[in-house]
Amino acid sequence: MRKEMQRRLMPYEEQMILFAKSCYICFQEFDLRVCEMCYSAYYCEQHKQQFQIKHNKHCWDLMFCLNLEMRHAGTKLHYDFSIFPNGTKYIDDMEGFMKNYYYLDTIPKSWSSKAYIHTDFVSTPLTVLYGIISAEVNVLNMNGHQYFVHIITSSYLEAEYAAAWELFLHTLYQIKQLTVVIIGLECKFEGKYFDLCNKCNSYGQSLKLEFSPMLYHKYINRPLCKKPNVIIRFDVDLKDETTLIDIFSTPNMNCPYFLLATSKSVAKENKTTMKELLNLQPAYNEQNKFRSFHPWRDFQTGSVYYRNNYVTIYPNFIL
Ligand SMILES: [Zn+2]
Ligand SMILES: [Zn+2]
Ligand SMILES: [Zn+2]
Repeated sequence: MRKEMQRRLMPYEEQMILFAKSCYICFQEFDLRVCEMCYSAYYCEQHKQQFQIKHNKHCWDLMFCLNLEMRHAGTKLHYDFSIFPNGTKYIDDMEGFMKNYYYLDTIPKSWSSKAYIHTDFVSTPLTVLYGIISAEVNVLNMNGHQYFVHIITSSYLEAEYAAAWELFLHTLYQIKQLTVVIIGLECKFEGKYFDLCNKCNSYGQSLKLEFSPMLYHKYINRPLCKKPNVIIRFDVDLKDETTLIDIFSTPNMNCPYFLLATSKSVAKENKTTMKELLNLQPAYNEQNKFRSFHPWRDFQTGSVYYRNNYVTIYPNFIL
């Protein structure tokens, strides 16, 4: 399906294909009405009342979601990270980041839709940057001046947001070449370099995005493959067979491993599975202070979710 489309699918479009329209209460797929507020939930003739009671608490969030999704389609992400970081503007969460580096101290009563999209844009690099600091991981386990971030995901969003890794370069100026590799995603082009700010240019820094459509263990076991300095995995089902084979066939990486999850239950389950299977204990397993504030529709539950909501950090990935 994705190949036939002219553009890549938004997460909600992928989910719409996976989850057929059905009544929110009984799941029947015919004779449906749509909620006329959010246009995101359906009910059948018999369940109008039950639907209204159960759906009501999610309706506003879903409506907001639809709004953002419609605005996001075709919006170009504008960014200028040159003011980050500023020694006098210490931050320890996403709200602080938005206040100091997006709204430049003058925060409006309510954020604009672009601001919500911006939190989605910067969430992953900020999570890794501050996660490394709070888990007291040795961040610069580098070979020379090169730094490799391996992101294992099948969602194209991380690729679309890759320019935000410039924030990483601004804090860790020892890194000269930062390469973000997205593994598990098909893409037409092999890689690209981003334009960076004057500060990055004067330090001789570069930011490159690469893709590889294969499974992680296949990617990492190729001859001459550069070892990662950090590995990130999203919303993974660690009990899924392919994932298990992938994890067990990955050699010892001796680098921090981040598991990012949208829900607390997934984060908790991941922690238990990693302990049972690999005897690994996380250095950090909490709600993420740098989560995205952009809601995405969850077609499975009829509510919304936030990317990178929970973060689990293993300082050293050793089997
Ligand atoms: Zn029904
Ligand atoms: Zn609704
Ligand atoms: Zn820069």
